[in-house]
Amino acid sequence: MAIVDKVRRIQERILAACIRSGRDPATVRLMGVSKFHEFSEIEEAWNGGIRLFGESRVQEAVEKFTGFKTSLAGAELHMIGSLQRNKAKTAVSLFDCIQSVDRDSLVTELGSLTSDRDSPLTILLELHTGESSKAGFLEEDHLFRAVEHVLSYPGLALGGLMTMAPYTGDEALIRAAFRSLVSVRNKLEARFPEGDWSGLSMGMSNDFEIAIEEGSTLIRIGTAIFGEGLT
Ligand SMILES: *Cc1c(COP(=O)(O)O)cnc(C)c1O
Repeated sequence: MAIVDKVRRIQERILAACIRSGRDPATVRLMGVSKFHEFSEIEEAWNGGIRLFGESRVQEAVEKFTGFKTSLAGAELHMIGSLQRNKAKTAVSLFDCIQSVDRDSLVTELGSLTSDRDSPLTILLELHTGESSKAGFLEEDHLFRAVEHVLSYPGLALGGLMTMAPYTGDEALIRAAFRSLVSVRNKLEARFPEGDWSGLSMGMSNDFEIAIEEGSTLIRIGTAIFGEGLT
């Protein structure tokens, strides 16, 4: 199946999941995760209507997306993979949002790199909710400290939370992971009402319908749009 057709299929499934759960489809953004895929495939997804792309590695993103706003006018690029400190400066200049902020030292680094920006860099805090790679904040006190820091940097704009559910066929485990993200979000919102907690980035090819049912506002789809790709 062509990429544009796969995009259309995903959009239909998003719509159905929204109808099922009584949600407005305009509140769920669709990201095409283009890691391991060529720019020609990214253009196909663009032709299918994808306006938001996600990449996991800074170097790969630089190779494919430098200057992308000229050919893909209005497109947005988010970082969704583990970000090393020595790549943070490049990441800040390329990405519109960094979703994978998973430790306080990275907040500090990003805060100092963005101190002279005209418009703040949006970041999401990544939480560990059961995925096996252990990426993301685990301890509540670490998370709270990081939030205080995010809110203190004028160059950073908080956009919400991100997580990866465990990769499993057990729907109950997946649902529990998404629910725990929502519950932490509610706690953070009560404690830090000055922050914007509206963004919930959760749901991938194998679990995005469950994520929509649980309140996701941004689903990150790789395989179901682009296929397996070369790693
Ligand atoms: C690769 C990746 C995705 C996309 O996963 P698929 O299962 O291929 O849809 C989403 N989020 C993150 C953080 C990823 O690394």
